[in-house]
Amino acid sequence: MRLAIRKYGDPILRAKGKRIEIVDERIRALAANMLETMHAANGVGLAAQQVGHALQLTVLDVSQVEDRPSALSLNGAPVEDPASVMPLVLLNPKLRLSDDKDSGSEGCLSFPDITAEIDRAVSVEVEAETLEGKTIRLDASGLLSRALQHEADHLNGILFIDRMSSAAKASHSSKLKRLQKETSKGI
Ligand code: ZN
Repeated sequence: MRLAIRKYGDPILRAKGKRIEIVDERIRALAANMLETMHAANGVGLAAQQVGHALQLTVLDVSQVEDRPSALSLNGAPVEDPASVMPLVLLNPKLRLSDDKDSGSEGCLSFPDITAEIDRAVSVEVEAETLEGKTIRLDASGLLSRALQHEADHLNGILFIDRMSSAAKASHSSKLKRLQKETSKGI
């Protein structure tokens, strides 16, 4: 089932996600619906807050993006074709960021028609749980590293506008105000 994607201005986007202790039918159904919603919207990632749940749950899929490569190791073993392990469903992710950063274009399904250059760590180490109750370790770089950092931010109530340069934020300010107004009318 496709879920409604919450837009900027909806207070749930600022909520910190609760740790998921037990994977029950409700969590499995939510993850499946989030995957369907992300794919239908052509997104590479979606966090639970974006569909109205303050939980530490995110889904990602970079397999459709051909012009921005990703590199990935899973539990220490390099994955030759990152697309082969997509989509990812991650619970309670913990990130360790590399010190080196680079700038890249980012958008967000909660901010239609807004993209900006955002500085992110070049690579990231993630420890997370899966729906099967396993703990996995991912080492990612490229687009997947960026997407993981963007989604982990969502799980903590942080949005990509918080990481925009003040000049970029200023250039989007009228769009952001309009979006916020539309959202508050709809709630
Ligand atoms: Zn987002």
